[in-house]
Amino acid sequence: MQEQIVELQSLLQNPKDIVITVHRGPDGDALGSALALYSVLTQSGHSVTVISPNNYASFLYWMKGNEDIVVFSDQEEKAIDITNNADLIFLLDFNNLSRIGEYTEVVRESSAKKIMIDHHQDPDFDAADIVISDTKYCSTSQLLFEVIESLGHKHLINKDVAECLYTGIMTDTGSFKFSSVTSRTHRVVAQLLDAGADNAKVHDLIYDNYSTERTRLLGYCLNNKMQIFQDLNSAVLSLSEEELKRFNFKKGDTEGFVNYALAIKGIIFAVFITEKEGLVKLSLRSKGGFKVNEIAKKYFSGGGHMNAAGGISDLSLEGTIEKVISIFKKYKNELITNK
Ligand code: 5GP
Ligand code: MN
Repeated sequence: MQEQIVELQSLLQNPKDIVITVHRGPDGDALGSALALYSVLTQSGHSVTVISPNNYASFLYWMKGNEDIVVFSDQEEKAIDITNNADLIFLLDFNNLSRIGEYTEVVRESSAKKIMIDHHQDPDFDAADIVISDTKYCSTSQLLFEVIESLGHKHLINKDVAECLYTGIMTDTGSFKFSSVTSRTHRVVAQLLDAGADNAKVHDLIYDNYSTERTRLLGYCLNNKMQIFQDLNSAVLSLSEEELKRFNFKKGDTEGFVNYALAIKGIIFAVFITEKEGLVKLSLRSKGGFKVNEIAKKYFSGGGHMNAAGGISDLSLEGTIEKVISIFKKYKNELITNK
């Protein structure tokens, strides 16, 4: 990483126009790292804009700097203008330009130097001039903390920055419970608390802030729409567009549903399928050595991490459920031995 840091340091030597972007449907880690970097670079005299390809869950709106984010799908012209004028573009929490959807070509065609900071497998080295990528990190936010430290900017991590980074680490580790969490993660988190992050507040704002309808939707989904295949150690849950509408679905409402299936004794592979805006989207989760990113890539044009991946399907919702069940059967041996 040292070589890339030196390169980055020289790019940041004088004030620059900078864009920071994240993957479509940014999560806590994507937005947390983007807003943390936004603050650090702004404090060091750069002119910075965070551009999100599309909108995101409202439980992330409280983060400092959120009101300055330009959403590409809402303000296309403005986003294109800012991108075309940028000297540098940071690509945070994604490994391939295709992950920014409609915004892809604008970024690809920009003459700005691109810097990727990410923790997903198989980064596309052609997508950026500087690639700081390491799958050993539980989150982009932890990696970014270390980048900020290496750049000599640790003193700029104030309470607000610390809370953004804390959000990223907390959400990408299921609140510090995944095997991706290391002693280093806890040391970083300790420093974030020392910098003023209010951990209980962040937890409350993210996890204890649901609408009544979201909680009822969860109940409905678990009660009526979850199929357990105990002999295959697998489970599938789904929600149709009509069902989401019925419970007044808002972006982010179904985040975490898949984990309830994974929390059932014996289940090591869980798939959650939703129908949104005419698209069938899958969330895959596993425990242990069963690699869901390989399944996502092979069958659903997606990818991700070994234990958390996603993709899309061109079949109907019903057809996708059938396909998932046939995958459970096909991988029976691995699902049984990986337990
Ligand atoms: P989620 O299920 O929360 O939407 O996504 C879990 C993880 O899977 C994400 O952090 C991301 O790494 C990956 N992922 C989700 N959707 C896609 C997709 O459409 N394409 C790829 N390549 N990865 C995805
Ligand atoms: Mn992440």
